[in-house]
Amino acid sequence: MEKYDIIIIGAGPGGLTAGLYAGRQGTKTLLLDKGLVGGAGLMVPSMENYPGFELIAGMSLIAKMKKQTEKNVAINEMENVESIEKINNGFMIKTSETEYQAKSLILATGATHRKLGVHGEDEFKGLGVSYCATCDGLLYKDKDILMIGGGNSALQEAIFLHNVGCNVTIVHRRDKFRAEKYLQDKIDEKQIPVIWDSVVEEIKGNQMVESVVLSNKKDGSKEELKVQGIFIAIGDTPSSELAKELAVNVDKYNHIIVDKTQKTNVDNVYAIGDVTGGVKQWVVACGEGAVAATYAYQGLEHTNNRDIN
Ligand code: NAP
Repeated sequence: MEKYDIIIIGAGPGGLTAGLYAGRQGTKTLLLDKGLVGGAGLMVPSMENYPGFELIAGMSLIAKMKKQTEKNVAINEMENVESIEKINNGFMIKTSETEYQAKSLILATGATHRKLGVHGEDEFKGLGVSYCATCDGLLYKDKDILMIGGGNSALQEAIFLHNVGCNVTIVHRRDKFRAEKYLQDKIDEKQIPVIWDSVVEEIKGNQMVESVVLSNKKDGSKEELKVQGIFIAIGDTPSSELAKELAVNVDKYNHIIVDKTQKTNVDNVYAIGDVTGGVKQWVVACGEGAVAATYAYQGLEHTNNRDIN
């Protein structure tokens, strides 16, 4: 069985940065991801707030990060971590491929899309219902679609959909957005229509989505809009199941609780990025990755047990 100093679970921006730091500190580190490197980061159409890049697509930045990190540590994609068990001198990690041992763990498991929970959402997933503008946007060129949500993701994706030629309208449940001002300004500038104070009640169709029933929260009125697609960007749910199996403490929203060193309540287990809640930004996840890898390294040095082979 392969033994490592540090295993990082999740290869988004935070996990990749943790891998970069851990590798450069000379630890034997493995980065595992159940999907492709980048995770949800691959779906970000464009970013204007990652220092050093005035404008860059998530996919491009992930490609650069991956190239840099894999010079320093091994990265295994498409390898799902099925269980983690605490053992005498570390952790036993069972994956879809094999088993590993590690002295320290860094959990960078991110979060998954929150669902609306309305009738038709599951039935028409992939048939007009999408959670990823970058992946599916082009399929809806020249079509009438709705973007649901009022945060950074919804506005960013609405701009992307508009730019690829979709007739996109935003539906938001309140009368103001929570997204950053620069995104709100772009929505105005591009004259993307917004339906305020409204929620989706039902998604209807035959083989594919054909219409959406909206309900106005202020006056209770309902309207049925003919649309070919509906994109949903209403936040996320932390992926903290593995952490909970290890008796790692989470808050009431299931975010992993960490201290300033990104350490959890369980010795030698660190957590970073969206799974810990807080400010969910790439630059924050990357910073947390650097912090966790540094303290994980120091912990190994301190206990003088880096050599587990
Ligand atoms: P978010 O900031 O949590 O916003 C979710 C939006 O969906 C809110 O406007 C919320 O409405 C709405 N919503 C929630 N549940 C709903 C429901 N059941 N029905 C209708 N609307 C619902 O989520 P996000 O936009 O995905 O962003 C997640 C995190 O990533 C945030 O911290 C964000 O700042 C960050 N992010 C950053 C960037 C960037 O760097 N520019 C880009 C994307 C995301 P209310 O406003 O009424 O609560």
